[in-house]
Amino acid sequence: MRSHLLNDLTAEQYRSSVTEGVERVAAKLATTDRPFTGVTVDTLAPRIASIDLDRPLGDTGAALDELEDVYLRDAVYFHHPRYLAHLNCPVVIPAVLGEAVLSAVNSSLDTWDQSAGATLIERRLIDWTAARIGLGGNADGVFTSGGTQSNLQALLLAREEAEPGRAGREQGASLSRLRVFASEAGHFSVQKSAKLLGLGQDAVVPIPVGHDKRMQTVALAHELERCRGDGLIPMAVVATAGTTDFGSIDPLPEIAELCTQYGAWLHVDAAYGCGLLASLKYRDRIDGIERADSVTVDYHKSFFQPVSSSAVLVRDGSTLRHATFHAEYLNPRRMVTERIPNQVDKSLQTTRRFDALKLWMTLRVMGADGIGALFDEVCDLAAEGWRLLAADPRFDVVVEPALSTLVFRHIPAAVTDPAEIDRANLYARKALFASGDAVVADTKVGGRHYLKFTLLNPETTTDDIAAVLDLIAGHAGQYLGEPLDRAS
Ligand SMILES: *Cc1c(COP(=O)(O)O)cnc(C)c1O
Repeated sequence: MRSHLLNDLTAEQYRSSVTEGVERVAAKLATTDRPFTGVTVDTLAPRIASIDLDRPLGDTGAALDELEDVYLRDAVYFHHPRYLAHLNCPVVIPAVLGEAVLSAVNSSLDTWDQSAGATLIERRLIDWTAARIGLGGNADGVFTSGGTQSNLQALLLAREEAEPGRAGREQGASLSRLRVFASEAGHFSVQKSAKLLGLGQDAVVPIPVGHDKRMQTVALAHELERCRGDGLIPMAVVATAGTTDFGSIDPLPEIAELCTQYGAWLHVDAAYGCGLLASLKYRDRIDGIERADSVTVDYHKSFFQPVSSSAVLVRDGSTLRHATFHAEYLNPRRMVTERIPNQVDKSLQTTRRFDALKLWMTLRVMGADGIGALFDEVCDLAAEGWRLLAADPRFDVVVEPALSTLVFRHIPAAVTDPAEIDRANLYARKALFASGDAVVADTKVGGRHYLKFTLLNPETTTDDIAAVLDLIAGHAGQYLGEPLDRAS
């Protein structure tokens, strides 16, 4: 069994074993003709349940054969041009290479003595990202597992910085007075964070969005004023730069102005829109982001990085101290004076992956312009898709995309009952998923069911979009034409 440990004696086995795995995936990529096989839970569950985990196969090839059966054959493939559902990107090869290296070397980014070099590489990328945002000379940040954790950490800092926090807030009593403002199209991790941070049930105040799905600043101003009038504390405003559902970008400069006026921390959730930081054409769409106190970026959404790769950036690096705890066995206080860089001092995590290496390899091989050009392509594709949808009487499309998302629904010519239209659209999505021909998402707009394309694959063409729209109309038509099916 020692032969399975990765070390000097097994370097050759490491090479052949990983190569064997890479070969299988490469073969899969080369032959995958649909994003999904349409496999059901009922088919797959018994296959996985029947495997006796206490009887190892003892052989890489056999385990890979089995993996084909339980995973690879029926996985959902994001690289396929007709995978159009969620915020999953196809990944760039330099990042996958980085992934292979980082898991083999297995650095842990909590302390310098577990990650020499890696810590500095992560710091360079934090500085690079902060500079792209324009956060100024005192900026800092840390890589996280994803936007959810980035938002949680940002709101933790905001909570600690909120008046009267600095003057020794009475926990509990004053926590219930803190308010966080986010648009109704903001991400649910804001509510989750508020709960984890011990804020009151009503802590997150939803701000309405306009037809363009951007936060209405008049409404925000009104709520901030009311908050102040009620003797409550505006802890933070979360502006979303790329809503998950629509890709809409809140009006950042106006929101920043209001934050200054009311003394609220400005957090910009750019989990999705961060790709614009590398854009060659559309960077101005997130102008104002430089005024944030903190920013969430998900490289694993719009920088074409494998999951996970995310970061939280802050304007004032000293605020990261709110996440600092010292342990004698790990990062004793004296190390700070010895200027030993321990990233755990800035992170909610302890043991932490060297995810930064993926972005590093990406920048060193392709450069930021390479990433930006890919993201620009999907934004352009979405604009094309919008024109297709707007001109097609079979569909109602919600909002012109600021990023790469299209939300629309099929409106069958002969049907006027909105509930029936809902059912036809839901049926179409399910039928499409079951066919595996394409994968799309669904969501609700104004209480009605809509379908959604999240376009993150530059290989997707307008022909793909047109073809999938035809498939959707076809499935919906089938549903409407076959009343007996409706019970299912
Ligand atoms: C995806 C997303 C998140 C959550 O990020 P994860 O990486 O999935 O944890 C937060 N905010 C927005 C706007 C998102 O789109």
